[in-house]
Amino acid sequence: MTAAQPSRTPRSPAVRELGMKATLLFPTREIAEQFYLPLIYTACRTCYSELEPQDIFERATTGRVASDKQQDLIRRVIESGHGSTIEHIVFTFAITGVTRTLSHQLVRHRAGVAFDQQSQRYLDYKRPSYMVPGTITDAPPELRERFVAEMDDSLAFYGEMLAAGIPGEDARFVMPNATRTNLIMTANLRALIHMSGLRLCTMAQWEIRRLFQLIRHEVFSVSPFLGSFLAPKCVPLGYCDEDRNRDEHCPIRPHKDNVLAAWAEKRTAAKKAGRDLPTL
Ligand SMILES: Cc1cc2nc3c(=O)[nH]c(=O)nc-3n(C[C@H](O)[C@H](O)[C@H](O)COP(=O)(O)OP(=O)(O)OC[C@H]3O[C@@H](n4cnc5c(N)ncnc54)[C@H](O)[C@@H]3O)c2cc1C
Repeated sequence: MTAAQPSRTPRSPAVRELGMKATLLFPTREIAEQFYLPLIYTACRTCYSELEPQDIFERATTGRVASDKQQDLIRRVIESGHGSTIEHIVFTFAITGVTRTLSHQLVRHRAGVAFDQQSQRYLDYKRPSYMVPGTITDAPPELRERFVAEMDDSLAFYGEMLAAGIPGEDARFVMPNATRTNLIMTANLRALIHMSGLRLCTMAQWEIRRLFQLIRHEVFSVSPFLGSFLAPKCVPLGYCDEDRNRDEHCPIRPHKDNVLAAWAEKRTAAKKAGRDLPTL
């Protein structure tokens, strides 16, 4: 028997406690179970049925259409990319203790998602806090101590400026990217799958990757079926399209260059054997 090979997948940020949380505020498990599948099913089925949507919904919520039948249709529709059907349901998360580095990345998502974030203008922080990245926690003590001293100095200076009458909206200019913040985020399922595809990818920055691991965990807790669609983008694609993974150091899926090269090889071999394969 051979010893288990260590995984080559880039290390997950989940191994560290980062002091951040993602809490699903809505829906509850009961609401998700009772309404979410039927809502998506109704959206999908309406396209192909003479029944009126309210009748389809009634049949789905009362169990006249079995939930595995609903799931089967929903899975096929999602895999075919008919995304509007999954815009009818939303998930609302309380996101706390993340850094401004993360929030700047998160709010770049525009379609199908809404954010409200703790304001550094309107709130005069009594105790702003910050995150120490794992690489700095593990760094030589003098570097780590200098980082902590710099953060503490900046945030102490922030407090001094407030005390001297400088408005919070100006005093905050000394706050570091490591400063923690809170947000509320509501996303429809289509947006959530898209965002997860990008942010669960091992090429994503570790803190936002960790956030989406927490988000996936929360969605799973109310609906394992819907949670299963939150995956790195290479999983539904079947290949990796990240330029920085041409060397396939992340092995979750083969890089598209290699998939295309394998196809070209197959086509050449088929040609030699007198057969023609469809062109690339
Ligand atoms: C690993 C990684 C590295 C990154 N590095 C950088 C960086 O160095 N610098 C930087 O500035 N950003 C960077 N980004 C952010 C990135 O460029 C996007 O802004 C961010 O991921 C939001 O995704 P999105 O554009 O798909 O927007 P979303 O709002 O999530 O949009 C979802 C989808 O809707 C469609 N859509 C949305 N808005 C429009 C529109 N106006 N017109 C047409 N279609 C639209 C698109 O198909 C889009 O993919 C990075 C992101 C990742 C994941």
